[in-house]
Amino acid sequence: MKQRINLLISFSVIALIVLMTVQCYLVKTAYEYKVAQFHTQIKNEIGKITNNYSDIDSELVAKKEALYKSLSENYIKGKNTKQDIKIGVLKNEYQSAVTQQIQRKFEKDLPYFKIDFAIVLNKFILYQNAKKNDTIFSEKPFIENKLYGNLNSLHQAFLVRSYVGITNGTFENQNYKLLTEDSMYVSVIDWEIIILRRMTFILILSLLSILTLITLFVIALKALIKQKKVSDVKTDFINNITHELKTPLATLGISTKILEQKNIRDNDENFNAIVNTISRQNNRLQSLIDQVMANSLAENELELQKEKIETEEFLLSIINDFKITFPKINLKTDFQTQKTILVLDKFHLTTAFLNVLENAVKYGSSTITIKTKIVEKQFSISIEDDGIGIAKNKQSLLFDKFYRVEQGNLHNTKGLGLGLYYVAQIVKAHQGSVSVMSDLGKGTEFTILLKV
Ligand code: ADP
Repeated sequence: MKQRINLLISFSVIALIVLMTVQCYLVKTAYEYKVAQFHTQIKNEIGKITNNYSDIDSELVAKKEALYKSLSENYIKGKNTKQDIKIGVLKNEYQSAVTQQIQRKFEKDLPYFKIDFAIVLNKFILYQNAKKNDTIFSEKPFIENKLYGNLNSLHQAFLVRSYVGITNGTFENQNYKLLTEDSMYVSVIDWEIIILRRMTFILILSLLSILTLITLFVIALKALIKQKKVSDVKTDFINNITHELKTPLATLGISTKILEQKNIRDNDENFNAIVNTISRQNNRLQSLIDQVMANSLAENELELQKEKIETEEFLLSIINDFKITFPKINLKTDFQTQKTILVLDKFHLTTAFLNVLENAVKYGSSTITIKTKIVEKQFSISIEDDGIGIAKNKQSLLFDKFYRVEQGNLHNTKGLGLGLYYVAQIVKAHQGSVSVMSDLGKGTEFTILLKV
């Protein structure tokens, strides 16, 4: 059974992990698709407003062409090196003016996005007559080759378009052609947030479905574990009660067999001894049945007969009776209170205290100390023993119905797992509380707090 549950849990966990992975993969794919879609949208919108620079400022375009021409002609003359051309192109004086104009255009035509951009020069190739082309430079797009723009890195940016410009000129009767290529990179500020906003519905839906799945899984698992615990506890209870009933029943069986013998019946002494045994076993059976009956009452069915009593005196009477039953046990008292009057049900509380005291003896104590004091306006009664103690991980279950620490180990100590359950029920019916403090091998202390 346990193995089957473990297998079921393992399979469910694996299925849950697979489902969550698939879900994450789908969300990731949707995100990538949205990013690509977003880039295309921005490209199209920017494409619509900046087909070439002429719509920005034709005067500037003319100035740019003039600069390129003069740099190229000086190069043909031999006055310029390739490096001079590159520096001349990149350090042009109208850089900031053009940047501002493009920026304003973006703000006007695409008001919903905050766009940073960079136009970088990739190629500057000179063709002189029929001679071979002279590549001044041809590079991949680098931010260092920025002509205009306010971007400082191309890292998060994406390419919206490349622009190839061809300028024809004549210098000293020589025709030449200039080919330039530049690329525009843009980065939309807070683009992740824009995409996440567009994905809100998908994200919420998938998050909700994962959460629902996990919640359902946890609920099912909890119900399964609880059911298993209940069934374990029931099995233990049946084993325990069968064991408890077997001894008196067997004794009764043997006793009746003996009584059938005439010579026993004729001997008064023997006859009385057997009748006493039968009566003892009968009482034992009766008390077992009473115990089960008392604990089968629901909490609200408990009818308390409360009366005003002097608590210390009441405790002493229980202790004195207990001393008579267990003369070998060293019972000590440490009362820090005097003549405390509480309204209590004497009968039920006596049984509850006896349960705790009998447990102390049953579980290996030779000395028991009963203390009373006032703690935060509550009357505290603690019963401390030096018995076998209770492991920490078992303590939270102690007051559960039918719970026994020594589950299955029937022959060490007898019990039905009802004693402490009864204590908890009675104390609760008095609006009090009961707690336990214990270390395995070092004894146990039960504390009962009652309202003053
Ligand atoms: P039981 O009939 O088994 O004694 P109880 O409800 O009285 O049932 O106690 C529950 C379990 O708590 C016991 O099985 C025992 O293992 C543990 N226990 C109770 N009192 C003590 C104690 N004083 N010392 C050690 N273990 C205890």
